Amino acid sequence: MNQFLSRRSFILILTMSILKIIFKPMKVLASSLNSKEEWNLSKEEWKSKLSTESYYILREEGTERAFSSQLNNEKRKGVFHCAGCDFPLFLSDKKYDSGTGWPSFWDSIQGSVETKVDFKLIVPRTEYHCSRCGGHQGHVFNDGPAPTGKRYCNNGLALRFVPD
Ligand SMILES: [Zn+2]
Repeated sequence: MNQFLSRRSFILILTMSILKIIFKPMKVLASSLNSKEEWNLSKEEWKSKLSTESYYILREEGTERAFSSQLNNEKRKGVFHCAGCDFPLFLSDKKYDSGTGWPSFWDSIQGSVETKVDFKLIVPRTEYHCSRCGGHQGHVFNDGPAPTGKRYCNNGLALRFVPD
């Protein structure tokens, strides 16, 4: 019995190690990709520019607690900008209540975000980030409403809302 268990543990450890090796080269932070040169700031520069919470999300691909952002209930007309570089990312008429606890949009402003696949939860997810500063915003899923069928699930702390 003990031998069986240790054999199972061995196989598990072996499998995990192999997975780690396979996925390691893909663990590239979004914030290190695609940033335009003038927004290619150092860690220290970003830390001095952002709150601790926003830094964690934008530059370290963190996720805020569900239902923690005031922007979740923001229903006014306006534009949602990147909290890192102030680039306009989403329009209020593309925002909808997804019930997930994060500000959700069914479309982004054209060219404002770029995507990559991440494996943080093992299952591949499509991460997206600001196309100007590379700051992580959230993940995009294919269970959104018509006409796009997309759900951009965004961290409120990564956004700044500018009412019309
Ligand atoms: Zn940005």
